[in-house]
Parts: sequence; C-alpha cells; structure tokens
Amino acid sequence: MTTAADVVIIGGGCMGCSVAWHLAHRGITNVVLIEREPQLGTGSTGKNAGGVRHQFSHSANIEMSIESIAMIANFEAIVGTPIDFHQDGYLFLLSRTADVAAFLKNVELQKAHGIDVRWLSPKEAAALTPGLDVTGVKGATYCPADGVADPNGVTMGFAKGAQAKGVEIVRETEVNGIRLEGNRVVEVRTSRGNIATPVVVNAAGPWAKSIGRLLGVDVPVEPERRHIFIASPPAGGSWDDPANAGKVPHSKLLVIDFETTFYFHREGGGLLFGMGDPDERPGFDITVRWDFLPKVIDVAMRRLPAIADAAVSHAWAGLYEMTPDHNPIIGPSSDVDGFFTIAGFSGHGFQHAPAAGRILADLIAGRDPKFDLSPFALDRFATRTARGEGNIV
Ligand SMILES: Cc1cc2nc3c(=O)[nH]c(=O)nc-3n(C[C@H](O)[C@H](O)[C@H](O)COP(=O)(O)OP(=O)(O)OC[C@H]3O[C@@H](n4cnc5c(N)ncnc54)[C@H](O)[C@@H]3O)c2cc1C
Repeated sequence: MTTAADVVIIGGGCMGCSVAWHLAHRGITNVVLIEREPQLGTGSTGKNAGGVRHQFSHSANIEMSIESIAMIANFEAIVGTPIDFHQDGYLFLLSRTADVAAFLKNVELQKAHGIDVRWLSPKEAAALTPGLDVTGVKGATYCPADGVADPNGVTMGFAKGAQAKGVEIVRETEVNGIRLEGNRVVEVRTSRGNIATPVVVNAAGPWAKSIGRLLGVDVPVEPERRHIFIASPPAGGSWDDPANAGKVPHSKLLVIDFETTFYFHREGGGLLFGMGDPDERPGFDITVRWDFLPKVIDVAMRRLPAIADAAVSHAWAGLYEMTPDHNPIIGPSSDVDGFFTIAGFSGHGFQHAPAAGRILADLIAGRDPKFDLSPFALDRFATRTARGEGNIV
C-alpha cells in the first residue's frame, strides 16, 4: 500500500467507487480507496433493490436523478463495462388525501425539470400492472424512464475504470484514525499502515458517523435495517410460466404503495419485495427478522393478492443511511480542511452515485460542479432547518 496520496477515499461502495472514477477522469490518479471488507460493494450497495427514479420531491434530487440515470443508461459507452438496466417505469400508488396533494405538486415540479411523469387514475394504474389490486387508491404517478439497474455492475465498473487510470484499491483494511495538524487533514491511519494525504473522502455509508468521530466532526448519519424478500410462485418455476399469467407484472415495473411503503418488482423468474418497519430503531444489526415477514405479507396481499400463496425463497437485510432530513451530505466540512463527506443518502443512494461522485470530484479538483450544494451541505443541520426529501420509501 502506498504511503502518500493526493486523496484517500474511505469506503468501497457505489459512492467511494464513483468518486474514485470521476477523480481519475479529472487527472487526479494518486488516489487510494480503502475498504475494510474483502470485496467492494458489500455494504448498503450490495443489499439494495436497484431502483432508479426521477420521482423525487426536492429539485436537487431530481437534478441528480437526471444526470445519474443518463449515465446509467449509457454506462458501457462512458465507463466501459456493460450493466443490466431496465427502464420499465416506477408507479407510486397513493391512497391518502395528503399524499395525493403532495404528489400532484411533485408532478408539476418534475415536469418543470422536463421529466415525462404522468398522473394516473386507479383504473389506469391497474391496467398497467397485472395482478394489482387498487382498492382504496385515489391516484398514482408513473414515470416510464424510471427503472431498475445493477448495483454491483455500476460499482465494479467505476472501480475497474478508476484502477485502470492508476487509482489504488485496498481491501481488508480498516481506517481507524485521521491525523490533523491544526484544523487540516494530514494523514489517514489504517490497520495496515498510514498514508500521508491532504484530502480524505468519507464514503463510509451507514458508518459515516464513526469516520466523522475520528476527527471530531459530527456527521449525522444513522443506520436503519431494511429487509428484502424474494418470492417464487407457489408451485415453483417462474412467474412467467403460463400457469401464473396475469398474477404479477412481466416487466420490471417497480410499484410502491406509498402509504405502507410496500414495494415490489420482478427479479429474474421471481418477485422482489420489501417494506419499511415503523418499529425499526437505528442500529447495525442486519440479521433477517423472519417474524417481520407475516406483517409484510398482510400488507402485500392487499395490493398484490398473488403474494398470499407465494413461496418466499430467500431474504436479506441491509442498512439505510439516514440523515435527519433524508437528503445526503455532499461536500467539505467547514471545521476541518481537506475533509469531504459523500454519505447519508437515506435509502436512495445507489441511483445518485454517478452524479454525486461527479459533483464531489469536481469540488476536490477545484472545478465548479455547476450544482447548488446548499441542500446537501454538512453544516445545514447546525445552522437551519433545511427542506428535506419527502419521497422516501
Ligand atoms: C434494503 C435496501 C434497499 C435499497 N434500495 C435502493 C434502491 O432501490 N435504490 C437506491 O438508489 N438505493 C437503494 N438503497 C440505498 C443504497 O443501497 C445506498 O444509498 C447506497 O448503497 C450507499 O452507498 P455507499 O457507498 O454510501 O455505502 P456502502 O455501500 O455501505 O459503502 C460504504 C463502505 O464503507 C466501508 N467502511 C465503513 N467504515 C470503514 C472503515 N472504517 N474503513 C474502511 N472501510 C469502511 C464499508 O465496509 C462499506 O463497504 C437501498 C438500501 C437497502 C439497505
């Protein structure tokens, strides 16, 4: 491992790898990315559902989606690695009056950004989605350019592209200290030795707070467990088999029941689904709580009756990286020179990794990122109440 670098990135998830790739493509190649696990992308990145959408309530997130989805759609041409990407749309189902009002506003905002987003009646939503029960749904929003992409492909594509330009990627190495001189970063300490550096990037996802603590900077990111379940048809085989015709969508359309946060999309021959647990408390435990599954099924079968008899073949849990206003932190610390954070994406980070990495790399390279970062500034929590993101699932 090198002992001096222009930039040290802590964390080899989609964020750290995107920053590394964008730095390298700005000519900053004396970079070390440090990951404590044996493989890259095994934190939140390796647990996520792959959903990418333009349908956010905050302009800054919509702008990041436009840039990121354009890059994901052209990933092979830009980064050189093929990835799996299906633009089969996202459908939000709304059953509360307040949600209808909020989403009508969101649709106007998204349209003002040039997004093709449509307001659907319950009947239109049902026509789009085989197997869906729209009882109690008052309206829905649909964006055909939203979709499902491949988190591992994107992360490894960025990592390989960065390595090809000279970035060093070090695995099975933990960052356990950051040395300051005055209020300036000078060295990163790891389980395998120290690296002198003037710039540290905190891309530690749900662990971002503990990296901040190494230099006395409060990075308010809390981990929260989220489950994903995979269901097969009751008699085995695929949901595409003729016996299951019309029970679930054939495409990878991602459907979200916004009131309950139950969501699903097709995954291979199976069906991927999940739901937030209002009783979940912050913590790093990612043990699957099988006692949560019946609660999810109770909700799920009301929207997608085929789930009632489906066989749940496997499940996993991962960590959302929550900030108080559900927007990420991207940018420098105002207390410590050379310390940058890119974390706290609150469960929607995979899809924003391409744009967020580009923006942070521009900042580090001294370029104008051409993006108003004030909604994502680290010091927003201390100085004011920022308007956050409302469309989190
Ligand atoms: C169940 C679930 C579903 C999700 N679905 C979606 C979705 O559909 N769409 C979407 O956009 N997002 C989704 N997300 C959120 C998304 O996965 C995250 O926002 C994103 O992966 C965050 O990436 P990251 O690189 O910041 O964090 P991570 O992928 O967690 O990477 C951080 C890395 O830092 C490493 N690290 C931490 N501390 C240290 C240290 N001291 N030294 C060295 N390395 C360290 C960790 O090992 C880890 O690999 C989902 C998340 C979950 C859990």
